[in-house]
Amino acid sequence: MTAKIIDGKAIAAEFNAETRELAFRVAGEFYRQPGLAVVLVGDDPASQVYVRNKIRTSAETGIRSELHRLPATATTAEVLELVARLNADPAVDGILVQSPPPPQVDEAEVIRAIDPDKDVDCFSERNVGRLLIGHDSGFRPCTPWGVMELLRRSGCDPAGKHAVVVGRSNIVGKPMAALLMQKAAGANATVTVVHSGTVEPERYARQADILIAAIGRPNFVTGNWIKPGAVVIDVGINRVVDPDTGRSRLTGDVNFDEAVEIASAITPVPGGVGPMTVAVLMRNAVTAAMLHLRMCR
Ligand code: NDP
Repeated sequence: MTAKIIDGKAIAAEFNAETRELAFRVAGEFYRQPGLAVVLVGDDPASQVYVRNKIRTSAETGIRSELHRLPATATTAEVLELVARLNADPAVDGILVQSPPPPQVDEAEVIRAIDPDKDVDCFSERNVGRLLIGHDSGFRPCTPWGVMELLRRSGCDPAGKHAVVVGRSNIVGKPMAALLMQKAAGANATVTVVHSGTVEPERYARQADILIAAIGRPNFVTGNWIKPGAVVIDVGINRVVDPDTGRSRLTGDVNFDEAVEIASAITPVPGGVGPMTVAVLMRNAVTAAMLHLRMCR
């Protein structure tokens, strides 16, 4: 069997077109574009690429973005001062602080300082709590919601299926499990979460109808982890050096060449989950504007 490739770029383009329409509707009704503030602390090359991509996608989706750069030596207090200014700025609907900041910056404290009504990453305690109890804050956790959209738009309904999530981070694994298990249309899966403390994680993975890998280890999930016909979603983004060319390239957490022969559908890396993560961020920025402008009326 050769798996169907779930084209994250195409699905993100479709999703972004819908976001753009919403953004134009906001602009038409309230006479201003949704505003997104992006904070970049330091000069980590990968973070710079991610930020450039977010700024470019903002422009494509009708969102006004502003980039705030702080030096690599910035203190937590300096980042908090900037966040406080952005919280108070009525032209800023959404705030994102690119992760990870340099080690001297207390990221948890920075996240706590962002107004939950401007929390477009959906990292705040309020919005994560609302997600868990199924109370819609309007904000979606970007990567996990992106995965839900990939499943839905490629015709895979999680209802009644066994989903196994490999990884339990606060930004991917935990919210992913919470979304899949919601008692709601488009969710309703039975969920198992495995992590570094799990004995024989592949034993659980092999029972998955939907297998989601979010580990951060290149090619960690091999063919013997996958049940024939499973849907495999590879969240991992790992930079590796190609032994043949000596050049660096991106690869996922799943051994694609093995998995593609066993799964019924699979996301590639790059071009799978990544574009959807940014797409959901943009949607959150427009949602933030809608919530904010209605409140100001
Ligand atoms: P974290 O490092 O925060 O979490 C990794 C998780 O994998 C942890 O829960 C860890 O378990 C688990 N793990 C580690 N080793 C094993 C093992 N041997 N067996 C089973 N589980 C294991 O990473 P993130 O969740 O932030 O990211 C995961 C990957 O996804 C990374 O490659 C990252 O770059 C990528 N990513 C991609 C995004 C996208 O847009 N496509 C967005 C965000 C992340 P434990 O908790 O026990 O330590």
